Amino acid sequence: MSTLAHTRHKIYTTVARQLHGVVPCWVCGEHVTVNDATLEHIRPLSEGGNSHMENLAISHGLCNNQRHARKPSA
Ligand SMILES: [Zn+2]
Repeated sequence: MSTLAHTRHKIYTTVARQLHGVVPCWVCGEHVTVNDATLEHIRPLSEGGNSHMENLAISHGLCNNQRHARKPSA
C-alpha cells in the first residue's frame, strides 16, 4: 500500500467515525464508498498546498477527475 493510499484510508476512516459512517464527497457532498474514494488536495500543490491531512479531503473518483478536467483556462 502506497503512502497516499494509506493516508486516504486513514482520512476515510477518521471522517466515517466522526460522521457515523457517512463520508461526504468534498466536491458534490454525496456519500463516497470506500472503493470510490480518492484524495483531493483542497489547496492544489501548484498553489502552495501541501499533502498534510488538513489539506486533504475525500471525493469520488469521478468528481475528482471532473474537477481537474474543468481547470480554468486562466
Ligand atoms: Zn462526488
